[in-house]
Amino acid sequence: MKNQLLTLTLCLLISGFSTLTAAQQLLLTNGTLLDPSDKSSTKQHLLLDQSGIIARLDSIPADFTGQQLDISGKFVIPGLIDMHTHAFGNRAPHSQSETMGPAAAAQVVLHAGVTGFVDLFGNEEQLFEHRRLQHSGLIAGADIYTSLSCLTAPGGHCSQFGKTRTIANEDEAKQHIRELAAKQADVIKLVSTLGGRLPSLSPELLKTAADEARKQGIKTIVHIHTLADIDSAIAAGVDAITHLPDDAVITADLAQRLATYKVVVIPTLACDTDEYEFMFSNVLQATLAQKVAAPRIIAGYQKAASEMTPQQKQQAKQRMDKYYQSIKNLIAADVVLLTGTDAGNYGTLQGFTVHREMEKFVAAGLSNWQALASATSAARQFLAKPAGLQPGAQSSLVILNGSPVDNISNSQQIFAVIHQGKLVN
Ligand SMILES: [Zn+2]
Repeated sequence: MKNQLLTLTLCLLISGFSTLTAAQQLLLTNGTLLDPSDKSSTKQHLLLDQSGIIARLDSIPADFTGQQLDISGKFVIPGLIDMHTHAFGNRAPHSQSETMGPAAAAQVVLHAGVTGFVDLFGNEEQLFEHRRLQHSGLIAGADIYTSLSCLTAPGGHCSQFGKTRTIANEDEAKQHIRELAAKQADVIKLVSTLGGRLPSLSPELLKTAADEARKQGIKTIVHIHTLADIDSAIAAGVDAITHLPDDAVITADLAQRLATYKVVVIPTLACDTDEYEFMFSNVLQATLAQKVAAPRIIAGYQKAASEMTPQQKQQAKQRMDKYYQSIKNLIAADVVLLTGTDAGNYGTLQGFTVHREMEKFVAAGLSNWQALASATSAARQFLAKPAGLQPGAQSSLVILNGSPVDNISNSQQIFAVIHQGKLVN
């Protein structure tokens, strides 16, 4: 009843002054709206424009003059977000690579239904510039969010891939974060690799950095490598960790502590487990994979598969089992998981791997609704953006031929993508 009243009110409002703005409006008719933020499935018409979702309607206003798209039998979900990528492109065995950069990656991933991504380290100047061009309306594509840089110990992880910011003491930690805040970094990325081969930020410096980021109002995401890094991240009071530990499985007790301290996890499970599946299953035969990746990338995996020894295959499988066990314990403790691909690495494809991450979350025990939330509403909440499919939310959507609530792999059955109120061609 409340919904009907709201609809009536909105209809009246629309019929009153819609003619001025109707040209920019888009009305999606007869679809089923799947909103992961409240797990609702509703057959309603959806009215939107560039600024966001305007209304959910039970009937089509008689005098509506904007664009209409009949999506009978289709399903609408919010646009997907990749919470951990490196937009330089795709990489495959046998030195195959496909170079993109943030501006090109933003175009490619849109076709996989990914309407926003968080680049967690690349070329700082390029990331800053491409994001600026996008904010100015000069380049299109999925919304670019970025940490701009990767804050690590001198010689630590990230520095092997190119120029990055390093922290040797408290003053440097504060200085870098103030500079990144001035450049409006969307998140701060920190690196902890205790017990690893490369130098790591100490627990003390991690805490100094996390405190300064909080002061600047920016969320922190920590690259972790071991269980000790997770302890260090919890003690530092960070907002999220990314990756799963290499040295051991996350225990039920540790998972519970992550939940208690509300630390979000971006596990990049597909990055850790899909290199094997790219070689030994039909994953890369998927229509969507073939659409977004260059043929030479796919061929690189096929060639590598033919060269792997039975022993190497066995080792790869054992590693996969360990990661799945960590995820199961995180799910059992109700830790918030977000989809991040770590694309740019082996076993990933820009955009496509968000779908793989959701499938793997479901295989590990997350419900389809929760997996959808991990890529949509929960990710938007982390980025402090309005979530879901209610009026006021972002008008970036994916229209699917099948329901991902019935089968999560239907997220790949893309009928159309809408980015900021506009149909993507
Ligand atoms: Zn990464």
